[in-house]
Amino acid sequence: MAHMLGISESVAKLNDGRLMPLLGLGTWQNTEPGSVQDTIETAIAAGYRHFDTAFYYMNEAEIGKAIKAQIQKGVVKREDLFIVTKLWLTFHSPEDVPVGFNKSLEALQLDYVDLYLIHFPVALQAMESLVSSGRVKSIGVSNFNISQLQRLLSVAKIPPAVNQVELHPYLVQSDLVKFCKVKNIALTAYSPFGSPGKPKEYHRGADDPGKLLEDPVVNDIARKHQRTPAQVLLRFHIEQGIVVIPKSSSPERILENTKVFDFSLDEDDMKALKSLDRDWRWDSNDEVKSHQFYPF
Ligand code: NAP
Repeated sequence: MAHMLGISESVAKLNDGRLMPLLGLGTWQNTEPGSVQDTIETAIAAGYRHFDTAFYYMNEAEIGKAIKAQIQKGVVKREDLFIVTKLWLTFHSPEDVPVGFNKSLEALQLDYVDLYLIHFPVALQAMESLVSSGRVKSIGVSNFNISQLQRLLSVAKIPPAVNQVELHPYLVQSDLVKFCKVKNIALTAYSPFGSPGKPKEYHRGADDPGKLLEDPVVNDIARKHQRTPAQVLLRFHIEQGIVVIPKSSSPERILENTKVFDFSLDEDDMKALKSLDRDWRWDSNDEVKSHQFYPF
């Protein structure tokens, strides 16, 4: 087998030259103080260096505390970490952008974040001055569709380095993947397992295709490679050079989700996984559906 890159060498090169680890830890719904502490410690020990949070997740302070403790213990250095957080909808007026950002930065107890994303595109605000202040290394967006990216690219002085979107075999988004590749915007795949632990209000009724982790095609491919369905779903993105941020609070699964750099999926596997596409979105933010910039 050709030499395969491990967790620490598997990175996406961003359009501003910075490197972003392909595997990151999602943290939505991980808010219990003790649990966040354990999660971050376990994840750093397992090799994760990229952590994804947001103002909206209400866990930045806990994550900040946990990261600070790891740095103080000498387990890891700040410059080895890649910390991502997001500007929430309530801070979209130009004068509110630094207010929202400062809240996140203070809660995280950091001097800078590696990547700052606009969480949801119901307003487009440049965050370019935060980059020149040095307190944000890269800026990006989340949940932007192609026409919103086009509009942003036509006005941005600094093009977004990243677009973080829901991606998995039920939502392959080939056009968006191609567009971002051509425009040199890295993609981060969120809800790679279809977010099985999400609260009930996020379930999408009778048409919900159910649990992606239980899909027979995913399970057949997992058996073929003697891997778990979760590892196949993560490798699906790594194979395409797409960054992926599975969430887990379980030490076993945090570790399991890192074991995706020592096997590969072949063309048939990729084709079979892509054929599961049904344009199914679990995270549709229906509550802002009427907004003129609603992306889906
Ligand atoms: P996800 O990562 O698809 O799924 C997480 C769920 O899968 C948890 O319930 C977790 O349970 C379980 N799980 C983890 N590893 C597993 C494994 N190996 N086998 C079986 N089950 C496993 O869902 P997500 O949390 O929605 O998405 C990931 C991250 O993306 C979020 O945490 C957040 O950081 C980000 N996100 C961003 C947006 C946005 O609008 N930008 C939206 C949604 C999510 P345990 O914890 O018990 O292991």
